[in-house]
Amino acid sequence: MSADIVNQLKGTRSDVKAAATTIEWKFREFSKGIGTNDAYPIRFELSVLRQLCLALKDNLHQHADLYCDIVATMLPHMEPCEEKPSLWEAHLTSLRYIHHGLCQEKTLKECQKMYGLIRSQRCRLQEEGDYKFYLDIHLTHFNGIHLQMQKQTLPIAATDQLYDALEAMGVLFDTMRQRKVAKNAALLVQLNEALFMKRSRGFLKSLSALPSECTVKMYDPLLKLLSCNWGIPSFELSNQFSEYLGLVLALMHIDIFSIEAPLQQQLALQLLRICRDLYRNISPQNYAIQLLYYYVKLLYGREATPTFKLTYIDLCKKFVAFFEHKGATHAKEQWFMDLLVFLQRVQTLLLQSSSKAPPFDIFWQQLEGDDSPKAYTAHFQLLYGCLVAAVNVVRSPLGTSCTSDACKSIRRHCLLSFGMCALEAFNNWQHTTEKMTDRTHHKPFLNILVYTMDVAKNTKCLGPTAAEIVKLVRQLALVIERVACPEQMSLLLPLMEPLQQIRPLIAIHDMHCLLRRIYKASVHCQSSDMANRLQSSYLAAQTNPSRLHTQLCVHYHNAKNSEKCVYEWHESSPLLNPLTPAQKNQLYDVDLLAVLHFLSAPPLPLLQSLLRCRRNDYHLVLLARKMRADSEMVRQCEELRSQLQSTALQQPLTRMQELAIGHASVSVLLEALEAQKTKVSIKETAENSLETFIVKNNLLELNIKREHRLVALATGAIAGFAAFFQRADQEPLDCDETPIDWEALIDDAVAAAMALSSMGYMAQADDAWLLLLRIGRMLDERFTYLRALTHFLAQDHPSPNQQLQLSEEVDRAQELLNDLWPQLKNGHFFKRHHTIVMLCLCHMASYYARQDCLCHAQLLLLQAEELRSEFDERLGKSDIVLITIQTVRFRLEYQRKKRSSGLPRMPTPLRQLDTLVDSVRNFYGLSSVDLGALQLLLADLVRESTECAANRLTERLGFTGIMLNMVLQSGMALRAIEVLISWLWMNLQMEYLDKAQSKLRLLDHLLAIKPLSLTLVEQPSTKGVPAIAAKDDPKSNGISELTSNMLLMQLVEPIRKQNQLDVATPKFPAIHDSSPSSLQLQRYVSKQEAPPHLRECMQLQCIYFIVGCLHARLSFLKRENDQLDDFYVRAGSWLQEDSARTATLGSMHLVQELYHVNYLRYRKKHKEAIRYAEAGLMLKCQTVDINYGFNFMSQLKTAQVELRPAGKEKAKTLRRALAFNTSPEIKGRKALVETTAKTKASASARKTPRFKIYTELELRPPIGSGSSSSSSKSGIENTPPSDHVDLNACQAIEISDDDSAFVPASAAAAVAAPLKRSQSVPVKATKTRSARVRNQLKVAEIIELDDTVEVTPPTTSAATAKRYQTTDARSTRARNRQAEETPATTRGRTRGKVPELTPQPETVSLRRRQRN
Ligand SMILES: [Zn+2]
Repeated sequence: MSADIVNQLKGTRSDVKAAATTIEWKFREFSKGIGTNDAYPIRFELSVLRQLCLALKDNLHQHADLYCDIVATMLPHMEPCEEKPSLWEAHLTSLRYIHHGLCQEKTLKECQKMYGLIRSQRCRLQEEGDYKFYLDIHLTHFNGIHLQMQKQTLPIAATDQLYDALEAMGVLFDTMRQRKVAKNAALLVQLNEALFMKRSRGFLKSLSALPSECTVKMYDPLLKLLSCNWGIPSFELSNQFSEYLGLVLALMHIDIFSIEAPLQQQLALQLLRICRDLYRNISPQNYAIQLLYYYVKLLYGREATPTFKLTYIDLCKKFVAFFEHKGATHAKEQWFMDLLVFLQRVQTLLLQSSSKAPPFDIFWQQLEGDDSPKAYTAHFQLLYGCLVAAVNVVRSPLGTSCTSDACKSIRRHCLLSFGMCALEAFNNWQHTTEKMTDRTHHKPFLNILVYTMDVAKNTKCLGPTAAEIVKLVRQLALVIERVACPEQMSLLLPLMEPLQQIRPLIAIHDMHCLLRRIYKASVHCQSSDMANRLQSSYLAAQTNPSRLHTQLCVHYHNAKNSEKCVYEWHESSPLLNPLTPAQKNQLYDVDLLAVLHFLSAPPLPLLQSLLRCRRNDYHLVLLARKMRADSEMVRQCEELRSQLQSTALQQPLTRMQELAIGHASVSVLLEALEAQKTKVSIKETAENSLETFIVKNNLLELNIKREHRLVALATGAIAGFAAFFQRADQEPLDCDETPIDWEALIDDAVAAAMALSSMGYMAQADDAWLLLLRIGRMLDERFTYLRALTHFLAQDHPSPNQQLQLSEEVDRAQELLNDLWPQLKNGHFFKRHHTIVMLCLCHMASYYARQDCLCHAQLLLLQAEELRSEFDERLGKSDIVLITIQTVRFRLEYQRKKRSSGLPRMPTPLRQLDTLVDSVRNFYGLSSVDLGALQLLLADLVRESTECAANRLTERLGFTGIMLNMVLQSGMALRAIEVLISWLWMNLQMEYLDKAQSKLRLLDHLLAIKPLSLTLVEQPSTKGVPAIAAKDDPKSNGISELTSNMLLMQLVEPIRKQNQLDVATPKFPAIHDSSPSSLQLQRYVSKQEAPPHLRECMQLQCIYFIVGCLHARLSFLKRENDQLDDFYVRAGSWLQEDSARTATLGSMHLVQELYHVNYLRYRKKHKEAIRYAEAGLMLKCQTVDINYGFNFMSQLKTAQVELRPAGKEKAKTLRRALAFNTSPEIKGRKALVETTAKTKASASARKTPRFKIYTELELRPPIGSGSSSSSSKSGIENTPPSDHVDLNACQAIEISDDDSAFVPASAAAAVAAPLKRSQSVPVKATKTRSARVRNQLKVAEIIELDDTVEVTPPTTSAATAKRYQTTDARSTRARNRQAEETPATTRGRTRGKVPELTPQPETVSLRRRQRN
């Protein structure tokens, strides 16, 4: 070829055109036979092609169309040259090169043109190896066009090019077969490389999408070609094994992906059949190929056959057996590895479910049905067999090696894949009921999974995002989700441990999903322990505390889950969550709180489990709160307490330790309180058997010393809480610190405060409630706050050193209450909350009353009353709110400092007290706080009722009995002492000296001064017997009549000691010897001689002093006067020693002063008596019975009278008064009573004492005189008394005996009790004759009649005057009043309520009264 053409081909377009013309001319010459020898045209062509190749290589594509023209000119002239086969080969190579060069995006047109030119020429294989040039061109063209179509740079019409290429390949294969080209190995490699095995699924998919009528033109010739066995050597076939398998695999894909008819072409099966023949003589591949052939044939089955399962099972078994026998020998051989990888890929294909109609549907459907478990067992066994054999796989062209540098393993991924297939197959399996219980498939299935997970654990390339792990988790989740019976659950359990091992590979979220499903499945667990363990794993995996709390509550809602706490189950769970210490703490804390707060009564095993797992002392004490019945717990608390206390000696405690000590102390305290309880019936605490009772019931331990420990515990607890609160307030709690159970803290602090209040230790209780007030305020715990405030509001004598601005708190509380009380009915609150709010209203009323805001107080009470009436459950019941309202009303009246005419009249205090006693007896507890509140109320009521009764010369033991019974039952010493002091006071007032003596012994016992002993108790009881006998004797010998008359007389004739005439007097000498009165009185007033345990506390000092005062009074009444002078002097200095202490005495100070004055008068020290009486009048107590004023005044007046000459005195109008405490309320029915009284009085052999009654002018106390303005003659000192005398208060009338010896004693007892009514009447009533009963009934009648006309409201002055006239005229009638007050009040209970405030029922009776 000339150099011109070479240059022209490399030159410009016109150059190339010129060259083309030259070449065309040249070939025209050739065709004419010019210039040809044998090889010339082809040589020329090759040289031109060579230049074209070079030009393309230089990327001169712009002339490609011209190049094609040139080739088109040359090609038809090309023939293989017989002598020189290399020329044909060079020709094909050049064509391939040019086509390849053109096969790119910018020259697609030319490429297609060139391919058309090549295809238009007959396929000529001069040498066997020539086929690969053709094949290469076809494959390149196919793939090139396919690629461009994928890129969408070619229209759909270009698909024709694909058909052409396939058809051309078919032609080539036919040509090869005809030419008997036995180069299968290279062919397979080339095909697998470019078209089949090595191509992606996507490519195979698009290949399978081509219409079968086109593809068949390639597949048919190919398979025909492959089926020809031209004596290929067996070693070569052995080497080709993997290529064959690769092709089979690719064809399987094509079969499956075929859209129009999957599996219809059965290309893979055809090829396998060919292989079976090819490998017939090649062992051991022949057997494997046969098995594969039958296996695939079975898979390809497109119709159900009855023997399918049997065949499949048989085939699987054969595979397994093959692996077992040959595995060991051939494990390391390539073909064996390839076989296993092939099987793995087939299994994966088997589960293809991408298309709408899964290709292997029929296969899977045939596995279902009757013997399905067996078939699946076989399937799993096959997979397991493969898995075991695949352990030796190292490499295989069929597998794809892992891209991770750390892994690069085919084996591991192959093994994992088998596991996945097993899981997926299991999940595809339609489980029916009978299949569920079948366990045959469990073993192979579990084997596979355990193996798989073990592999996964050691596979380095796997992580939470690895596709295999994601799939594994998803499939596992499906398995778990399907669990619906214990058998299936048993399948799951062996997987837990391997699962736990691969846990680091699983994403947290995925693991949670698994745990949640396991949690749900665990209900089918046969072992409840295991179920709990599994559930705990899910629960513990919750890291959000609130969600965790919710879940735990749901968990504990099931009563079965009460054996152990979640925390403990989790510790032993097979799926233990890898929790950080902080998370562990959180889990425990939330678990604990869920148990403590969600369960009202947590079961003991649960608490014990929590206890075992506790993480600090705080947990111990919180748990101990719920296990207070457990003595071991209390012991642990005690231990902890002493341990912390000894720590505190060395270093300051942390705030959590302080908190722990607080809770621990409360636990010990409550246990101790519980331990000292006794069951006491009300009968046993009768007055005369009290000492016996104490001894017999082993209450010898009951004293103030024992109580000291409890007080120490309670104050210790409060101190711990206070220290904690102080610091909790100052520094924020760490986030990983145990959350504080404020509810528990408040509960326990309230328990300690209530214990202190109930035991009566006021200073300590104040501290406790003050702390609670602060906590309640800080935490916005409204009810705690109100409850604490109520404590302070209820106090008559607020402690002076209190750090509390009560007025500020009241303002705050009022706002709070305004907000709160209207909501009370909406159902969000408990009954105790109702009680707390209403009690606060009541006590706020008494607070305002103390501030002299009486109207406000009344309004508050009314509000409480109205609020109460809104709760149906309280209607008609005597609940604590009602009792408190009554109590506060009683106090308003009783403690009124001055008489205000502005307020309507109320029933007399005594009457109100009787109503109250009835209410208390009918007490109906509605909530947990009621009884405690009642106990506190009663403690005050005992004192107040005693004072009120004593100041009115009557006896009220209702509260005393109830309270004593209550405190003895709960083993409280100080409260018992208080009750006994009240009782002793009462006894002294009534001058029951033996009883008083007994009280003193009891007090000495309770104060731990001199314990009661058996001998001591027996003395009075043995002496009691003759006394009772003496009582009974008169019955028989005719004196009974007299006695009964006397009894009747006692009702109306309150003559001191008369009633004790026969009974009590003989006891005096006996008691005298053994009584504590022989002890020195001065011990009470000397600090040195007081017992050490009473010196510490001011309250106890006061108590001891009061006992001393009463003891002195007893001595006085018994006329044992030798120590009294000294005592009163010392008492005086005791009182001056400490003003705060003296203030704590309250009204007992007044009582003491009265006793003192009385004694001075007895000693004829009248001037001193006057001085003390005047001083007594000046004493101011904040709330005090008005009658103290009267009593002082009467002492004063008497002393003044006694100072004067006797003659002057006679001039005064003295009236004989047999009744004390005359009440002007008494009207009518006087005559009968009076006559009876006179008769009986004369009948008694005793000389009737004479009484002096002072004019009201003289008796009028200085206080309250200013308020008498309602009277028409007000303001003048010596006018007759009008409204300023409080009728309700039972105006004191001084009694003076004519007999000088009696003067002091009787006078002192403005006091001296008239009657033993409350005791003697009921006792006698049961014993005496009916006549007497009738008599009593008569009296009762009188009383009732008497009652109806009492308390006339001071509507007009005329009415008032009239009333007083009648009162004065029949002053003797007053004596009845004294006796009758008690029974009468039961009827008149409702009377005298504030008219404008009173509800309807009252107004009726009011009108009636006004008519009168
Ligand atoms: Zn890997």
